[in-house]
Amino acid sequence: MVKKMKIGKFYKINREKLEEAIKAILDKLHSEFPEIVEKWAEEQLKLKKAIKEEEHIAEELLKKPTTFEQLKEEFERKVQELRKKCKHQKLSKWMDFWWAPGHPTGYQVKICKICGMIVKRRTRCQQCGKWVEEPFEFKDEFGRIFCSEECLQKFKESFKW
Ligand SMILES: [Zn+2]
Ligand SMILES: [Zn+2]
Repeated sequence: MVKKMKIGKFYKINREKLEEAIKAILDKLHSEFPEIVEKWAEEQLKLKKAIKEEEHIAEELLKKPTTFEQLKEEFERKVQELRKKCKHQKLSKWMDFWWAPGHPTGYQVKICKICGMIVKRRTRCQQCGKWVEEPFEFKDEFGRIFCSEECLQKFKESFKW
């Protein structure tokens, strides 16, 4: 602590002298080796620029969204973040899933009450009407879903002549 104060004091007192000395050295160096001094000056400038850019990025990050588009982006980004972290422990009841108002998809879903993600899906077996939950193991070539191989075969046979 004592040492630190001493250095600080020393620096304060001698700052002007120090700056003068550095300037003199640089002037002398510049007259003899201009490339070295110019290169050094250029690097200093680059460094300053880089710091400014970083400060600018930090400022941008801290900025609050203002327009509708920015709000939407912010919202979507936060939802993504939440969904990545969420363990989906609180699920809704089974609900009909609509692709548009008045247009049910034939699927029911369970949604995470915390992050809003669809966590489970189910639909009815095309043959027996039993609920089948995702992942759907028994499908025909048209994507129709069945509860079992048995139902799938029965369904196929019912179309045979
Ligand atoms: Zn969740
Ligand atoms: Zn079935």
